[in-house]
Formats: sequence, C-alpha cells, structure tokens
Amino acid sequence: MKVIVIGGGAAGSMAAINAAGSGADVTLIEKNEKIGKKIYITGKGRCNVTNSSDADVFFKNVNRNSKFLYSSFYNFDNFSVMRFFEDHGCPLKEERGNRVFPVSDHSSDIIKTLTNVLKESGVKILFNTCVKDLIVEEGVVKGVILSDEKKLFSDRVIVATGGVSYPMTGSDGDGYRFAKETGHDLKEPEASLIPIIPKEDFYKELQGLSLKNVKLTLFDNNKKIYEEMGEMMFAHFGLTGPLILTVSTKMTFKDRSKPHEYKLLLDLKPALSKEMLDERLLKDFGKNINKAFKNSLDELLPKNLIPVIIELSGIDPMKQVNEITREERREFVELMKNVSFTPVALRPISEAIITKGGVSVKDINPSTMESKKIKNLYFAGEVIDVDAMTGGFNLQIAWSTGFLAGTI
Ligand SMILES: Cc1cc2nc3c(=O)[nH]c(=O)nc-3n(C[C@H](O)[C@H](O)[C@H](O)COP(=O)(O)OP(=O)(O)OC[C@H]3O[C@@H](n4cnc5c(N)ncnc54)[C@H](O)[C@@H]3O)c2cc1C
Repeated sequence: MKVIVIGGGAAGSMAAINAAGSGADVTLIEKNEKIGKKIYITGKGRCNVTNSSDADVFFKNVNRNSKFLYSSFYNFDNFSVMRFFEDHGCPLKEERGNRVFPVSDHSSDIIKTLTNVLKESGVKILFNTCVKDLIVEEGVVKGVILSDEKKLFSDRVIVATGGVSYPMTGSDGDGYRFAKETGHDLKEPEASLIPIIPKEDFYKELQGLSLKNVKLTLFDNNKKIYEEMGEMMFAHFGLTGPLILTVSTKMTFKDRSKPHEYKLLLDLKPALSKEMLDERLLKDFGKNINKAFKNSLDELLPKNLIPVIIELSGIDPMKQVNEITREERREFVELMKNVSFTPVALRPISEAIITKGGVSVKDINPSTMESKKIKNLYFAGEVIDVDAMTGGFNLQIAWSTGFLAGTI
C-alpha cells in the first residue's frame, strides 16, 4: 500500500512511522528543510511531549470534542508515547503537573528520535516540498499535486498540516484549504492559549509585573464561566502568563451565534477573605499611621502595582493613613479582591500556542481518522477541530491521532 503523509510535524511523523511499520510504502512531504520545526519551539525549547496523568485527566484537559479522541487516545495513549520515545533512545522525565519532558531538556532530542525512526522505518521524506492540492476523483483521494505541478499518487493520503499559529514553522493553514475544497465543514480557526487584550489600558503601566497565586474569574454576560488560580503577567501587548493562556481557551470573539460580553475579575489575595484582608490592611495601617497612604502598602502589594491600584481606588495617594475612612478601606479591600478587566480581543492567531477550530469532527471517523466525505483521505493533529490545555495534551492529541491515521 502506498501512503502519502502531508506534514512532518508530530502528527505526520507518527502517522508515517506507524504506516511504514505495518509495511506500507510511505512518502512524507514536508515544506520545510527539516521535520518538526514547531516541536523545536514547544515547552520553551524543552518539549513537553505528553502528560503522565490518567486518561480522565487527559480528556478533562481537552477543550473541544474530547469524545472524538476516545479511540485514538486508547489506541496510542500517553504511556505508549512515553514507551515509544524511551524505547528509541530518548529518556524522559516527569515534572510538576505530570508534564513529561526529555531528560536532556532539549526538544531537538524528540525531533532527532523521530528522524531516526522515520529513517529506520524506510519512510521516504521529501523536504522543501509543498503540497498544493489533493487529487480527488469521484469521492476518492488518489494523491497530491505539488507546488511544481508534479503529481504523486497513492492509496491513502494523510493530511497532518497543523493549524495556523506560528506560521513561520510551516503550519499556515494549507490543510484547511484542502479540507474545504474537498467538501469538509471547517470550524473557523481562532487563537487559543493566547494573551488577552483588555479595554482598560492601565495594564501598560504594569509591564513586566508577574503575579503569583492570584485568582481569575471569567464572566460572560454576567454569568461566571470559569475560575482558576495561578500566575499571570502584564506585558506591553496585554495580559499574559499561564493563567491568562488558560482563561483564553474559554473565550471566543468569532462566535456570531450569540454576543459575548466578557469580564475578568482578578483577586490579588485569594487566600484571604474580605474580613481577613481588612484586618491585614488595618494592621499595616497601624504600622504606618502617620504616613501617606501610598507609603503604607509595601508589605501587601508589589511595588509597581501600588500606584496603579491606588489610582483605581480613587483615594488620594497623599492622604494620611489615619485619615482613611472605614468606607474607603472597605472599598479598597473590595478592589483588591476584584480588579476588573474587560477583554476586548485576543492577540493575533499567529501568536497562539494552539489553533482552536479546524476540520469538523463530524466529517471524520473517530475510529480511523478517515474522512467521511472522501475515501482514503485521513486527517491527524491540530488540523482537526480539537484543542487542549497546556501540559503536554496538545502534542498527545497529535501523537494519538497521527498513530491512528497511520494504522493500516
Ligand atoms: C510556542 C509553542 C509551544 C508549544 N508547546 C507545547 C508543549 O510543550 N506541549 C504540547 O503538548 N504542545 C505544545 N504546543 C502545541 C503543539 O506544538 C502542537 O499542538 C503540535 O505541534 C501540532 O502538531 P501537528 O503535527 O498537528 O502540526 P505541526 O507541528 O504544525 O506540523 C505541521 C507540519 O506540516 C507542514 N506543512 C503544512 N502545510 C504543508 C504543505 N502544504 N505541504 C507540505 N508540508 C506542509 C508544516 O511545515 C509542519 O511541519 C506548542 C505550540 C507552540 C506554538
């Protein structure tokens, strides 16, 4: 059997390896000069290759269409992925949150392992080669047309072209076009795991500030939709950091079926109730009784946050601490528990860790990854409308769906 795999990322490489392992004659087509350009930048260059938690944790961390992934995940789960890399000479280690990385802390070792196994399995790789179109005749895929118009024929074509985030890695949306042109429904691609831009511009004054152990609550049309603790940061372009990226997965600005009005409340002191925080403030005021308000908060808040939060409170920064009224103090406590942001946009999709949306799961058979519209055409990885949280879950989706698409 002849198999063509389009895209030498995580999903395409795994699909090619599995198909070749079953005796297929496999050609992997990659537009870059090497495989795995996106893998190289994963996990800040360390590649969080998967997550060693139980299956239910994996499914909980999949944001969309988790049920679609049952077959592929159970067929080639996180432990299979770990075994694959370790058996092929790439030892792994677990870190906080069961995140799995190569012991070397180098994503290049993951790419090296894939490259070696592709070679050992006899997969033919065409580098610097771009697929322009699929060849489809009477509802059956017959091969691909390359950008130099050359035609290659095969019995199976696997589209593993990724999403549209970080397009300089090669994933620039070709797979969406192939899917659309061959009659598949496409869920509009949108940024996910991405910084958030708020309406209020005081965040710009906080550039570089990182807040640990804070709580964010996201509201949509005044209804609470998500709440989480963690770390966030302020940047010149908006709000970022792990907690913000997570929250961003719960937001959309492309859903035209209903209007969304988001509000994000930041609790600077989630470990303290309002009463406890008021007591704490009173204690700090007691120590600074003859000082200006702006000089009384050093032990409670990070230095560069103080002028901003005081401005938000409306209290005169020069007011003597002993002149601050109980009402003003109460309102200040309220503010520290509820700093409000109005998200108005996400940063551009090119900067997203992951693309939400893609080829509709309704058009793909979850037990095989074969298209329901075009025979012998398969999809794998981020090109499909599935996405997950950080923690190694997105690469796991690519490994699992790639392996299944390459099962002969
Ligand atoms: C900065 C960053 C950090 C990340 N960190 C992690 C992490 O630590 N852990 C994790 O689980 N996930 C992480 N992710 C997400 C993860 O990288 C992706 O989910 C995963 O790589 C998707 O794999 P894929 O094979 O589907 O697509 P890709 O890796 O995007 O591969 C697609 C390949 O197809 C090729 N291609 C596209 N079109 C064509 C064409 N027409 N012809 C030929 N070739 C083509 C591209 O060049 C590319 O090599 C991160 C993402 C980013 C951007």
